[in-house]
Amino acid sequence: MTHQLFIAGQWRDAEGGATFEVENPATGETLATVADASAADGRAALDAAVAAQADWARTAPRDRGEILRRAFEIITERTDELAEQMTAEMGKPVSESKAEIAYGAEFFRWFAEESVRIAGRHSVAPNGATRLLTLKQPVGPCLMITPWNFPLAMGTRKIGPAIAAGCTMVVKPASLTPLTMLTLGEILTEAGLPDGVLNIVTTKSTGEVMEPIIRDPRLRKLTFTGSTEVGRTLIEQAAEGVLRVSMELGGNAPFLVFEDADLEKAVDGAMLAKMRNIGEACTAANRFIVHESLAEEFSRRFAERMEQAEVGPLVEAKQRDKVAELVDDAKEHGAQVLTGGEVPAGAGYFYPPTVLTGVPTEARVWREEIFGPVAPIFTFTDDDEALRMANDTEFGLVAYAFTQSYSRAIKVYEGLETGMVGINQGVVSNPAAPFGGMKASGFGREGGDEGIEEYLETKYVGLAP
Ligand code: NAP
Repeated sequence: MTHQLFIAGQWRDAEGGATFEVENPATGETLATVADASAADGRAALDAAVAAQADWARTAPRDRGEILRRAFEIITERTDELAEQMTAEMGKPVSESKAEIAYGAEFFRWFAEESVRIAGRHSVAPNGATRLLTLKQPVGPCLMITPWNFPLAMGTRKIGPAIAAGCTMVVKPASLTPLTMLTLGEILTEAGLPDGVLNIVTTKSTGEVMEPIIRDPRLRKLTFTGSTEVGRTLIEQAAEGVLRVSMELGGNAPFLVFEDADLEKAVDGAMLAKMRNIGEACTAANRFIVHESLAEEFSRRFAERMEQAEVGPLVEAKQRDKVAELVDDAKEHGAQVLTGGEVPAGAGYFYPPTVLTGVPTEARVWREEIFGPVAPIFTFTDDDEALRMANDTEFGLVAYAFTQSYSRAIKVYEGLETGMVGINQGVVSNPAAPFGGMKASGFGREGGDEGIEEYLETKYVGLAP
């Protein structure tokens, strides 16, 4: 059976019946065959989104909210089946897939509630001569491009606010993990989403299909989650149509452990910050920066916990090879391996949980996103040095800091150049909070009060009495 494209409420084959295969990373075997869209199919998806936009923008906010609420309930009911599909295409353990499904569904519940809270304001001009009225209107047709590491949640946090705001959309999931998004299309249809509001295009000719959509003057917004490298290209393409753009890009999160940290909590936090999603998260702690007085004890306890961690395979051979390469490079720079550090024999793209100590900042892991279960530990001597080290990266998505001192925590979260900070906690993601980065980690926010603003235009009307 071929998984088809979803355009204008219809499931249909790609032009010429083209398909590509999706692999199970735990076995390397083919899992499914998926329609491989052409540029003409991409255009048809945008045509459908454009055709549906005006009517969709006029629907009652409560109706849009109810669709999201129903979809939240259906996702929750179908958790087991969705988790199995997600694990098969992406590789994370089923327990982690279930956690992502709960997290991803929450964006629909959150934005169901936000849909009826879109407000404008009214005020009197300072000179009293006119009245100032503002209203919020949907931005218009959106293109959403999502990565493979969270096949559901990276979609729902774009689709949720777009539906709530009254925007139509074309969604392109990662070609490594398209199946979850196709199931989400079925779920939203069952929840009552009108034809053409959501269109899903799967393709292996990604650039050739996406670029004409981005350059089409009918598109009004581009929202992308993925690597900084691809993000840069897309920002350039989006400049032509002066699109509204949101970019959720790569990370290089520092995890700071200060001399007054509660070590037990810091190790618990480190496990979460490193091992959620097998380290394949933009929010994954990439550099552990630990006060020299605690480094040995922290490293020992952390390595003990890492040895016991259950891991799935990484998403593909290329990803596993990159992780192995980064570890080998750290070793060549003099790092010691406390646990892990070698590619295991056997099928699947597994890499063991790994802790490295004595890592110099010349090693590639200092600058590059690891995207795997590898924790390099660096040391510092005073707070200013810790902050300097934390900020010594082009990225600025998230940082974690462990300290029991209130004033140190304030100094640290104010000094960190990241869009998000976790103090004494190893996970910050929350549908009610604005998720997003600074610097090369991107711009725009997903979730929280801010999330829906990305899909709304503010219009000002001057009213003379
Ligand atoms: P990626 O290679 O940038 O791919 C992301 C998406 O972009 C995929 O759907 C991909 O399609 C598509 N794409 C690739 N080249 C394109 C092009 N020329 N034009 C249009 N679309 C294109 O990233 P990834 O490897 O999937 O994901 C990992 C990256 O995402 C990491 O850097 C991670 O930090 C980042 N990430 C960031 C966040 C955040 O919120 N900040 C969250 C999760 C992940 P194909 O699959 O067909 O190649």
